[in-house]
Amino acid sequence: MARSKQPATARAGTTVPSAETVDIAQLVEDLDAMLTRLRLGAIREQLDALLEEAARRELNLREALAWLCAAEVASKEQRRLSMAMTIAHFPFVRTLEGFEFEAQPSIDPSKIRDLATCRWVANGDNVVLLGPPGVGKTHLEVALGREVVARGYTVQFTTAMELLGSLVKGQQQGTLDLRLAQYSKPKLLIIDELGYLPLEPQAGHLFFQLISRRYEQGSVLISSNRPVEEWDEVFGDQVVAAAILDRLLHHSHVVTIRGDSYRLREKRRSGLFRPQAGGSSSSGSGVKPPPPAKEV
Ligand code: ADP
Ligand code: MG
Repeated sequence: MARSKQPATARAGTTVPSAETVDIAQLVEDLDAMLTRLRLGAIREQLDALLEEAARRELNLREALAWLCAAEVASKEQRRLSMAMTIAHFPFVRTLEGFEFEAQPSIDPSKIRDLATCRWVANGDNVVLLGPPGVGKTHLEVALGREVVARGYTVQFTTAMELLGSLVKGQQQGTLDLRLAQYSKPKLLIIDELGYLPLEPQAGHLFFQLISRRYEQGSVLISSNRPVEEWDEVFGDQVVAAAILDRLLHHSHVVTIRGDSYRLREKRRSGLFRPQAGGSSSSGSGVKPPPPAKEV
């Protein structure tokens, strides 16, 4: 007997079919299609295992339904999370659990834990991470960014060079407004590595436009190897730098990291590199490759 390909629910119209009159065997046959139509992929894929577990635990119908829904909700949340992490464009995976606070005593762990609650993002505040290369600025940006994603906010990670390069290009091509709008969209914009490389002359003005647009709307998490007093040099313009800092620092949390590069510390531990006289690494344009250890 040829059966219609249309699922039983569609044939039944908008009224709930009565259990006496409906063909239950047909409904069961259509179950897969109905679950697909309702976008309940996790229930569809794990149906047998979920039902077996429900039977093993002797769940009643309501409990079993709740159990199935919970599986679907967990799967959808997992997908949302992994999608949001992809969209955020983090350069690597780093977590707060993986951050050794003992290695960087200038950081107050309770301050970072407080930032991990993401209240600052809810309030539209900014975070400024300052410190020399290798002390964990990008690590903390990614780790905090992941916490913000987990709370359901949109996040975008970029570098100062990439961001300003894009805005300069936008200005040249007449698409500046579009690009400013794009960078204003995420609830949190992470801007890594401000101050490492020289900026184009108009970069300060463009950066100011972006910070003004985001001001008190969305949060910025920015890291720099240069103290804020040197940002007029970074932007090549004292007035613009002051205007940027005025908005950026108005509602902000500044974390200043002092100390040795974690990268070089690891190398030192393995005996590849000897500490320089004076200990702390200084700010500069990047970490020089450590010289090989000499035999004495
Ligand atoms: P920065 O951005 O300040 O130059 P990074 O965050 O890139 O430094 O850190 C360099 C490397 O060292 C990264 O792989 C990072 O995960 C690691 N790292 C830095 N500080 C710590 C720390 N306190 N605990 C664990 N790993 C660290
Ligand atoms: Mg970095």
